Amino acid sequence: MTALLEIDALKVQLHTAQQPVRAVDGLSLTIHPGETFALLGESGCGKSMTALSIMRLLPDAGRITHGSIRLNGNELLALPEFAMRRVRGNRIGMIFQEPMLSLNPVMTTGEQIEEVLIQHTSLRGAAAQARILELLQQVGIPDPVQRIKEYPFQFSGGMKQRVMIAMALASKPALLIADEPTTALDVTIQAQVLALMRSLQQQENMAILLITHDLGVVAEMAQRIAVMYAGEIIETTDRATFFQAPAHPYSHKLFSALPTRKKRHQELVVIPGNVPPLSHAFIGCRFADRCDFAWEKCHQEIPPWVEIAPQHHVRCHLYPDQADKFLSGVTSVP
Ligand code: SF4
Ligand code: MG
Repeated sequence: MTALLEIDALKVQLHTAQQPVRAVDGLSLTIHPGETFALLGESGCGKSMTALSIMRLLPDAGRITHGSIRLNGNELLALPEFAMRRVRGNRIGMIFQEPMLSLNPVMTTGEQIEEVLIQHTSLRGAAAQARILELLQQVGIPDPVQRIKEYPFQFSGGMKQRVMIAMALASKPALLIADEPTTALDVTIQAQVLALMRSLQQQENMAILLITHDLGVVAEMAQRIAVMYAGEIIETTDRATFFQAPAHPYSHKLFSALPTRKKRHQELVVIPGNVPPLSHAFIGCRFADRCDFAWEKCHQEIPPWVEIAPQHHVRCHLYPDQADKFLSGVTSVP
């Protein structure tokens, strides 16, 4: 299958008051048309920086220092800003955790969606108005004729997120990046928004890059999963394998900290120990200080990226030779 998005060896530095931080440190991934790919990890592991790099919307302190990001084979990092502006919103849509920060408080929802249509489509006037109503209907906003005249503060959190989704979908993007799209919503609304994203995805055959720290959201949505830790991907596989037989000790920890199957529909728990500082290059495994299996080699050599089964990769010295010995006593998801 031809890839939609290919990221190769992406490195992002953040310049802080102290020293530069390697927020993303050699990340590679591929997303195919129509699939949902989840990037799972604790906060601060580099998920959002990866998303913002794809959009070329890093904060001022952030800089891409290495790597390649291709959409349908075209290098996004080489595009002039005016061309990148066309890609944003046109080929790639993005929704964020906090819709209030992305909606303009002094414009009606109708005006905001119309602005997107003017920027990214040829629709104007009555055709644009018809499309706005269609979009609001598509995302399940009742009484759209009235609602397009209202301002963001007149919408609940879940309804605001629906407006954001409508704006992101306005130009039928090939890829939707959703950064913690339901974290700010209560559980019932969360389920509705996820169901909406799934049905829109099927209608539009759009790929979704889902950024989350929530195993429940991953279980609900993802076909493939990459687990991020301290700026890099440490395991990638399909959803079934990830929930039945996670391979990396960090992935195991995410599950073993959850006592029951029911609890897997929950946000990640805190694992004892700290994520290592990202200010200097690593000489060994970046999970070594928190890993129950670490031995000398883990502190001295960077673990290679090993394919342990078709489409299942892991970055850990236990593989391929030592895994049975170490993981035989580890119980999988109950
Ligand atoms: Fe643990 Fe070593 Fe594997 Fe790192 S390489 S996850 S420290 S066993
Ligand atoms: Mg984030």
